Amino acid sequence: MFEWSEEQLAIRDAVRRFVEEEVKPNVEELEHGETPPYEVIRKLYQTFGLDALARDSAKRAIERKAAGSESSAGASGKTSGKAAGKAAERAEGGSNAAMTLIPIIELCHYCPGIVTALGVSTGLAGGTIMKSGTPAQMERWGLDLMTLDKVGAWAITEPDSGSDALGGMKSTAVRDGDEYVLNGNKTFITNGPYADTIVFYAKLDDGSDTPLRQRPVLTFILDSGMPGLEQSKPFRKMGLHSSPTGELFLSDVRVAKDRLLGESEGKPGGNEGRESAKGNFVTERAGVAAMSLGLIEECLKLSIQYAKDRMLWERPISEFQLIQLKLAKMEIARLNVENLVFRHVEMAAAGKSLTLAEASAMKLYSAQAASEVAMEAVQLFGGNGYMSEFRVEQLARDAKVFQIYAGTDEIQVTHIARDLLSR
Ligand SMILES: Cc1cc2nc3c(=O)[nH]c(=O)nc-3n(C[C@H](O)[C@H](O)[C@H](O)COP(=O)(O)OP(=O)(O)OC[C@H]3O[C@@H](n4cnc5c(N)ncnc54)[C@H](O)[C@@H]3O)c2cc1C
Repeated sequence: MFEWSEEQLAIRDAVRRFVEEEVKPNVEELEHGETPPYEVIRKLYQTFGLDALARDSAKRAIERKAAGSESSAGASGKTSGKAAGKAAERAEGGSNAAMTLIPIIELCHYCPGIVTALGVSTGLAGGTIMKSGTPAQMERWGLDLMTLDKVGAWAITEPDSGSDALGGMKSTAVRDGDEYVLNGNKTFITNGPYADTIVFYAKLDDGSDTPLRQRPVLTFILDSGMPGLEQSKPFRKMGLHSSPTGELFLSDVRVAKDRLLGESEGKPGGNEGRESAKGNFVTERAGVAAMSLGLIEECLKLSIQYAKDRMLWERPISEFQLIQLKLAKMEIARLNVENLVFRHVEMAAAGKSLTLAEASAMKLYSAQAASEVAMEAVQLFGGNGYMSEFRVEQLARDAKVFQIYAGTDEIQVTHIARDLLSR
């Protein structure tokens, strides 16, 4: 694949029109007002029937999971139901990849924050429940997240553990009869202030001597308003203002087993919670690459126009070779990131998945390229680039976070190296 198909281009153009009509006129409100992004995203979903598609797809996934658990619960090692389910899941995932990434790219021309709020709610919170939840949990919480009827948060980061999220995690889950009691603080949580449903990670504290770092990680599903759960107001931050980010405080939150993801602590010594968190790496990292592509495309478009319009020494600055070099480097970055995105779409369509090294390399390169392109766009715009009126200022602030969330640049390097060296 080296370009979008006719069908994909038609979808892209339709989404582009939506973004021009519904997002562009409201950028000021979304970026500098108090307007949360959820209504705009819901309108996108309704306009393109994505809510209905998501509902159908989620219902099929629930049926497959139910059939899979029945067949694996049955005797005689009949795993064909499960295997067929996995194959159908892969096929569905492949055909959805382009459909998921195209709106991400288009929305990032104006509001990368909206994409973050959307991606965390459907991809991380909803995706985790749909992947590892029981059929009942998928039905009760996953469905409404996938359709955007409800807003989700995915809470792993803590004030003292950031990049060391799993090892350094201090939030605890203590068994108490048939229930668990949860305590801990989470920070930098996208949608935290507004989430209806929260996927919450905590360490099992069973009173044993197991060092904190090695204790099993359990995943719980929480509802806003539960006694002992507090959701902060949105943080003020450098960029990404259309994505609300906040803290969560849990003080003796009591949950029954039906809120434990998969309704199981997993096998003794198993790593289900850690695997559930790591299972999001590839999707999340491919998503950031698509976001970078949208942002780079927009910076390049704005820069070309500005270079042609801005007159100095009685000629457009586009005639200066140093300006041409900036445009050329932006185009190189655009082509490279686009190729990485195409490769991911193609692989997903073939039912293949990126390795950890590939997904991390894709994210590392794309995030750095987006930051560099956006900062060079600011430079090309001169003083105007530093003014909020010219959109490259917002895009440059927004791009920086691509190098921080979903694993910092430095963490991507460690993951690439670990994967390569383990072969
Ligand atoms: C806008 C935003 C939204 C977010 N949304 C969510 C969310 O929805 N859910 C969630 O759980 N988290 C979320 N996060 C948290 C995000 O994943 C973390 O910020 C990120 O993982 C880095 O952790 P940290 O901020 O604590 O930095 P730290 O881990 O303290 O890192 C500090 C510095 O040390 C470097 N470093 C760390 N370890 C190493 C190492 N081994 N080798 C070399 N250098 C290293 C880092 O790269 C960084 O430069 C969000 C963050 C932001 C900014």
